[in-house]
Amino acid sequence: MQLTDSCFTKSFYMMGQSLKGCLNCSYCRLTGKEQSKYEKLPSSINPLFRQLPVAVNLFYGDPLLQVEKTIEYLRALEADNHKGPVIIITKGEIWKFPDIKFDLDLHFAFSTFGINSKYDGGSLRTLNANLSSMKNDRIHKYQYSIEFRPVIKGINDSQEAIENIVKIAKKYDAPIGFCGLQVTPELANYFKENNINFEPYEGYDFGLKKAVSKEVEDIFYNMSEKYNVPVFRKTSCLISYSHGLNRDYNAHYYRPNEMRCSKCVMNNTCKSFIQERDISEVTSLNIPFKHTIINKDKHVCYLFKSGVCKFANPDCTNIKGKLIKIEERITSSDVRVIKWLTGYTVDCEFDESEFISDKWSVGKFAQMIDSIKNQLESIQYTNGDLSDIGNEIGISIAKHLTEDNNVNDFIHGVKHGISLIDGTH
Ligand code: SF4
Repeated sequence: MQLTDSCFTKSFYMMGQSLKGCLNCSYCRLTGKEQSKYEKLPSSINPLFRQLPVAVNLFYGDPLLQVEKTIEYLRALEADNHKGPVIIITKGEIWKFPDIKFDLDLHFAFSTFGINSKYDGGSLRTLNANLSSMKNDRIHKYQYSIEFRPVIKGINDSQEAIENIVKIAKKYDAPIGFCGLQVTPELANYFKENNINFEPYEGYDFGLKKAVSKEVEDIFYNMSEKYNVPVFRKTSCLISYSHGLNRDYNAHYYRPNEMRCSKCVMNNTCKSFIQERDISEVTSLNIPFKHTIINKDKHVCYLFKSGVCKFANPDCTNIKGKLIKIEERITSSDVRVIKWLTGYTVDCEFDESEFISDKWSVGKFAQMIDSIKNQLESIQYTNGDLSDIGNEIGISIAKHLTEDNNVNDFIHGVKHGISLIDGTH
């Protein structure tokens, strides 16, 4: 069984809602036809999910077109003591977002098409203004970056366009992520109906893989060296770098040639993680599936083996090192969450799904314990007494009270516990 009230993408747990309108970028794979709303806090599924990377309002409807709602989700994550990076990916205007403090590991990723274009709802002017505001004007500082996407053959992939974005990144101290175009069958139809003639790079076809040619990648990496600006092929690599994580949370280091790890500023960090992982004697990990840890020299990615991915890189059939072997069939989102939490990739069969298996969901008792622990851990004051502790516990148990599990049960339990210690039992 899958949990269908929470949604996962390749790199994020998703919290947000879609709108009826957005910025009308022609290349967007989200059409707004299907309305989405996912508001569940990650920790309400499993306390471990407090560590997950979360994207806010990454459905159809830019986060800065719905600032109040975006802030509402951020405040909910903050109140829940969320620990993982929280990302706002936007083409909107940052002046609409108040300069306020969030106790979150917050990141603004400014999405750009690299040029001013009829295909794009953003502009280079807005990109510059947003980055300038982040670097120079705002009192409350958060991580930020540039997401140059999608890079499309013959449209926005010239050396001039790429160099211009790298210069902007240099000016405002922003790392860059880039990727090609992902095209769903619906989007392919939309292109056809609207006479939009985007072409895939040679050797690729449009599909899941956001491919760009080697030549275009070379321009990015050459510019990265020339201007000393970190560039990343994958969003998770960029976020992991910006937020000082000890590895790419999406475990792309299993495909080091494809990801050009040797050119990456995180290379040593990811390598240390791999070395420690491969010498560790860990035999089981905190995941809800029966598993073993195995060593493989030539693991083949299941997406390639099952024919879903038609454009595999040689790395995809040469995966080395320790992996988690799971016999049961799980979902692609389960695989992602396992990578995010453990840093291990998974040897198993899986179905493509934006949902995870219900095995992740912890029971009510575990949720209540987590809620009390989390509330007490997030106390900001250092002097207090038992009434303060009672108050904090009251706040945390209030959300779990039911007719069968009411406050008198709790008080009865507290009195019983005391009686066991003071001899009045
Ligand atoms: S070293 Fe490789 S896996 Fe690690 S962050 Fe860089 S590109 Fe990603």
